[in-house]
Amino acid sequence: PSDSAIRDFWRWLRERGALPQPSPPVRPAFVPEGLGLVAERDMLRNELLMEIPKKLWINADTVAASAIGPVTLGLIPWVSIALFILREKAMGTASSWRPYLDILPQETDSPIFWSEEELSQIRGTQLLNTTIGVKEYVQSEFNKVEDEVILPNKHLFPKTITAADFLWAFGVLRSRAFSRLRGDKIALIPFADLINHSSTITSEDICWEIKGKGVFSRELMFSLRTPAYVKAGEQVYIQYDLEKSNTELVDYGFIDRRQRREVYTMTLEISESDPFYGDKLDIAESSGLGEIAYFDIVLDEPLPPLMLPYLRLVAIGGTDAFLLEAIFRNSVWGHLELPVSRANEERICRVVREACNSALSGHHTTIEEVLHLPIYCLHFTMNS
Ligand code: SAM
Repeated sequence: PSDSAIRDFWRWLRERGALPQPSPPVRPAFVPEGLGLVAERDMLRNELLMEIPKKLWINADTVAASAIGPVTLGLIPWVSIALFILREKAMGTASSWRPYLDILPQETDSPIFWSEEELSQIRGTQLLNTTIGVKEYVQSEFNKVEDEVILPNKHLFPKTITAADFLWAFGVLRSRAFSRLRGDKIALIPFADLINHSSTITSEDICWEIKGKGVFSRELMFSLRTPAYVKAGEQVYIQYDLEKSNTELVDYGFIDRRQRREVYTMTLEISESDPFYGDKLDIAESSGLGEIAYFDIVLDEPLPPLMLPYLRLVAIGGTDAFLLEAIFRNSVWGHLELPVSRANEERICRVVREACNSALSGHHTTIEEVLHLPIYCLHFTMNS
């Protein structure tokens, strides 16, 4: 965005009563992360940065109350919001949201915006699979909404909306919606969404809340506070989500090297062709697992507690099969805590090793290099 776009945005916020008098404690500024919020004065932890009234949020209610409300009824909230911002953007100066829409980035570094060439660099990774899956999902939602809403209502959508536009809108929502405002609650909160993430903020406290204000607390506000002390002229940051792995953070277009974010999801499966399929599934379900189980392995941390027992269960065969009998149902998980037999352990090792080799063979790079890559993926079943 240009300087003049930022000035327009500032004026827009002021006219709509989103800036406190006499002077707001933060202002938008160009920073290494794109736009960000810079402190105008020294601030202590937990000081109020802003209160954004509900009339400035863009959420499902905003869309419902707009001209496209009647034709977007029943759409998934993010899809209706995507249509709304694309339509408002196409309206140019006729849209009352223009000053906000004009400061949104053209794209982020999220892999959904990478070129084919860039994506080829992550061949063989979990990230590539996820990215392809996400893009397919967005494309299929686009196809549906184009057929069912856009094309039949040409008078409401005079300008063409392309699949690329729709992906942009998805990317905007994905990278700007606060992590606890997802699903039905998804919303764009102008100004508050300029705050960037820093790994140095590690407090678990959420620094924003939605609360009622004014007469009878009738007006809802999104209020944002400083999670840490900040000096005048410095950028204010928050922690986006301590729970997110790098595979998820990368949706925002960056990863975080400072914390235990290196997570690798192992997908294990009881094969339908397994002669003991039914019994194994029964046992898995008794521990809240299923036919397919996902285990997040965090770098430098112990394996998830149920992972080895589940692997042993999946690998049971031959003379160990007696453990699957109904009389052991109550104690079988206890048995699976420890090796069941030498053959069973060997089988696990062999299958895991083969799965690793085959996953790694998808990469361009050598095994030594791959071991330094943060994000990769394994999915295997035991057939042999
Ligand atoms: N910087 C954004 C902008 O220019 O509009 C405002 C924050 S927006 C909620 C989230 C986006 O900011 C992310 O998708 C990413 O592009 C950028 N961002 C936030 N924190 C970052 C960080 N620590 N490193 C790199 N980019 C970051």
